[in-house]
Amino acid sequence: MAMMVHNLFLKIINKEIPAKIAHEDDLCLAFHDINPQAPVHVLIIPKKVIRTHADLTPDDAAVMGHIHLVAVQLAKDLGLSAGYRLVLNCDEQAGQTVPHLHLHLLGGRDLGWPPG
Ligand code: AMP
Repeated sequence: MAMMVHNLFLKIINKEIPAKIAHEDDLCLAFHDINPQAPVHVLIIPKKVIRTHADLTPDDAAVMGHIHLVAVQLAKDLGLSAGYRLVLNCDEQAGQTVPHLHLHLLGGRDLGWPPG
């Protein structure tokens, strides 16, 4: 089972540790995954600290919609016209390792189903 480590994504938001940034605006940040699982593997995160998907409240509806719209734009910008997959791991049993909600945008190869 994956271990949740400290919130290093907050350090990326605060530019305390570097990342290859693909998009930034007031509500969210998108950056390339350090250990890519596909030719394109970008993480899209709200700047607001939300530990995991199960913690979402009605106040988070706008930012969650927003990160999906950013995913659509990034998929276009990064050439994923053949398709892409969005993954959001919630808590340990699903493999979440960083306690800051993040959407994985994956594409550029055939993606198997079911996932591991
Ligand atoms: P998850 O397993 O869903 O919590 O996803 C966490 C993701 O963060 C993994 O795909 C990691 O490869 C990625 N990751 C960890 N550290 C960094 C980092 N410093 N920069 C970019 N991506 C990272």
